[in-house]
Amino acid sequence: MIISLRRFEWACRAGVSGAAIVSLSLGVGGCAGRSDPDAFVASDSTRAMEELRFLSSDSLEGRRTGEPGNAMARDFIVAAFRDAGLQAPEGGFVQPFEFTPRRDTTRVIQGANVVGYAPGTDPAAGAMVLTAHFDHVGVRDGEVYNGADDNASGTVALMSIARYVVKSPLRHSVVFAALDGEEMGLQGARAFVAAGWPGNIVVNVNMDMVARSDSLLFASGTYHYPQLRPFLQSIERRGPVVLRFGHDQPEVEGVEGEDDWTNSSDQGAFHAVGIPFVYFGVEDHEDYHRPTDDFERIDPAFFINAIRTVLAGVLAFDEGLGGVPSVAGTESGEVARQQARAEDVATIDGIIKAYYDVVSGPAGESADMERDRTLHHPAAWVAIANVDSAGKPVVNVMTLDGYYGDNAPRAEGFWEWETDRVTQRSGNMVHVWSSYATAREQGGEPYARGVNSITLFYDGERWWVMGWMFDGSAG
Ligand SMILES: [Zn+2]
Repeated sequence: MIISLRRFEWACRAGVSGAAIVSLSLGVGGCAGRSDPDAFVASDSTRAMEELRFLSSDSLEGRRTGEPGNAMARDFIVAAFRDAGLQAPEGGFVQPFEFTPRRDTTRVIQGANVVGYAPGTDPAAGAMVLTAHFDHVGVRDGEVYNGADDNASGTVALMSIARYVVKSPLRHSVVFAALDGEEMGLQGARAFVAAGWPGNIVVNVNMDMVARSDSLLFASGTYHYPQLRPFLQSIERRGPVVLRFGHDQPEVEGVEGEDDWTNSSDQGAFHAVGIPFVYFGVEDHEDYHRPTDDFERIDPAFFINAIRTVLAGVLAFDEGLGGVPSVAGTESGEVARQQARAEDVATIDGIIKAYYDVVSGPAGESADMERDRTLHHPAAWVAIANVDSAGKPVVNVMTLDGYYGDNAPRAEGFWEWETDRVTQRSGNMVHVWSSYATAREQGGEPYARGVNSITLFYDGERWWVMGWMFDGSAG
């Protein structure tokens, strides 16, 4: 079955070409109402700080699972989810579970996650599950462990992002899960994963300790799920926040390694069943798991910009991640996947724009063959039709490397751009009939026009150019 591509689904990505914008204006324009995420988080910051102050106050007695202070925190989060306009799943916002702690197998402890969701605009896209644990370790020796950074901070970030997403719906459904029992062994996360969620979960974004650091905020998990990395690489720096990958490689015995955080917070329960995750968090600090992890010690500028950074990541995932399970790439495909620019491979508009960008440029420069390689599947083909000296039609089929040859610098300027596009889709296969014009300078008078026939494949995470053809004797 061939259906025409609903191109408006992809209309939100910045940097689409002028020609593409013209054709997109025919679509629904589902993004027109989206408010600026950074401005929203700034406008929400006073409220977020008040929430952080409350959740880390002595009256909540360290929010230990099964105790009254934890229940107060839970009620507060339910009210915030309701006020944000999140919808409750079957059974309501409060999702109880029970477990037996490892250290005392004679006891059964009652916990409860708080779960709400914002429906997506594309029912087939699946769900992104955002998580943060709200429990902490309680009172020890008469001292309240307030857990302002661990993890009142992530809980408030979750609520602030919920307020944004309800106002500006995403393509994916977004599930907001404030999890209980993390400090007792990821209990709430395990219960959530065991219960399951209707529809496919495309990613788990977990936040645990996001409110204090000189600069570094880690995005951990791309060692296991490299397909997520390009989306995070596209995030610009916000305020003091420097995003860094790491803390996700298994430690090798006898080799001094970095601390592996893969199973150190709730993302571990998602990873255990193969759901891709990114965990946002800071390095352990002097107040980690001490009674001094207080509201007064968090850094408001870092905290607010950390929320902006996580939200930017969520929005990038929303545009780029598909609704079907990813297909494992070849080894060289994995390399290309990691090196590709997120904006080049996240959408059809992005990959077609890049397809022309890489060959365009002034005299004296070569085509950007390395970038072009990240667009193409490792086994991609290039076919050029022509006529021989006797007038007989011929076709020459080659690899991308064969097409470029020695990729010598251009003798003259060469600029090529798309002038029209006809797109047809069947499943994850797309054919793009892409008309183009060629000039000696950018925006110059075309000296040639033609058509590229481009076959694309979507692997659930990104687009690939599988092959393309043009007829050198036409036009
Ligand atoms: Zn924590």
